[in-house]
Amino acid sequence: MNHLQRKDGRLFLEEVALEDLARQYGTPLYAYSLAALNDAYLAYEQALSGLPHLICYAVKANGSLAILQHFARCGAGFDIVSGGELARVLAAGGAAGKVVFSGVGKTAAEMRMALQAGIRCFNVESESELERLNRVAGELGKSAPVSFRVNPDVDPKTHPYISTGLKQNKFGVPISQAPALYRRAAEMDNVTIHGVDCHIGSQLTDLSPIADALDRVLALADSLAVAGIKLRHIDIGGGVGIRYQDETPPDMAVYREMLQSRFAGRDEEIIVEPGRSLVGEAGVLLTRIEYIKQGEGKNFVIVDAAMNDLMRPALYDAYHDIVPVQESATPPLACDVVGPVCETGDFIGLGRHLAVREGELLAVLAAGAYGMSMSSNYNTRPRAAEVVVNKNEIRLIRERETIEGLMAGERLVSW
Ligand SMILES: *Cc1c(COP(=O)(O)O)cnc(C)c1O
Repeated sequence: MNHLQRKDGRLFLEEVALEDLARQYGTPLYAYSLAALNDAYLAYEQALSGLPHLICYAVKANGSLAILQHFARCGAGFDIVSGGELARVLAAGGAAGKVVFSGVGKTAAEMRMALQAGIRCFNVESESELERLNRVAGELGKSAPVSFRVNPDVDPKTHPYISTGLKQNKFGVPISQAPALYRRAAEMDNVTIHGVDCHIGSQLTDLSPIADALDRVLALADSLAVAGIKLRHIDIGGGVGIRYQDETPPDMAVYREMLQSRFAGRDEEIIVEPGRSLVGEAGVLLTRIEYIKQGEGKNFVIVDAAMNDLMRPALYDAYHDIVPVQESATPPLACDVVGPVCETGDFIGLGRHLAVREGELLAVLAAGAYGMSMSSNYNTRPRAAEVVVNKNEIRLIRERETIEGLMAGERLVSW
């Protein structure tokens, strides 16, 4: 992340010293670089330049209103997975007409909300969902724009890390069943076929499974065209992987070539739904060391951020780099970096070597995606504040929660 730099031993996000952020806003604190958000968005714009396209930011990666507002101003659309996310997009100034709605469990109420807002497309994931959508749209006197999320079943032997594009998971419809579903949709009174959609997994650092999946989807589009069903868009799903540790993320020039070669001479609009790669590397989680506990054979650096603030290590055993905000001459300590939550699984990083003392600050890197958006109040911990940094300017985009706020909807009862 080149918007995070060390100068004279101190860590800066753009032109702002992280220790100043911590002093001003407290910890734990999520901080994002506006320049990094811009660079990431521009990389997709460049990859798709010259082709008709829409970048639909996947809201679930980080749905904070100011982040959505930023991408809306960039001209982005949004990929949502709930009515709540639609409300966020609209509150942030996003255009309903650029929203695609994914997810296997859309309720009738969510469908009504999305139809009334006038979203661009429903990514339908089952025949039952199609039937429900046709009925709900009919009740509103509308026609629902649909695409089917197809499951291309790319070979797991060649691509062992693919998690959502395989036969055995809950997402999408088997690509072999897609022609029958399109024929069924074409007969319906209250749906309009717009496209096809495919999302095979997240944090892919190799483009070949994406390319294989896309080839299968394009072959489907061509065979549908022969059968008289013309698609307006091809949605290629989520974005590329990012660097957490020693991964080599795909070169965006190669990604560009992969798309440009396949879409040359075609007229469908390309929709892409990146989440992680638009926000992940733009964000750091700042946390303060409360205690250093030197145990027998194991040392613990106990920080004020926990699994409720950043769930990825506990949930997926995910790795995040953790670095001292201020470099020091203290001898490095072999340690686990853990939070105060009462769970053995509450760790931010295991087996690290850190030259730190109690009271100092740590920065957890590449925490912009699936960090704040997955946070919870477990252990009655108010969620962190969030700030965006733009050169030397800082904006608070989310206040730290209060304990009173956490209890606000609850009641004592008498019988
Ligand atoms: C999560 C998700 C995305 C975003 O994936 P990233 O890997 O974060 O880019 C896009 N589309 C769908 C349907 C998703 O579920």
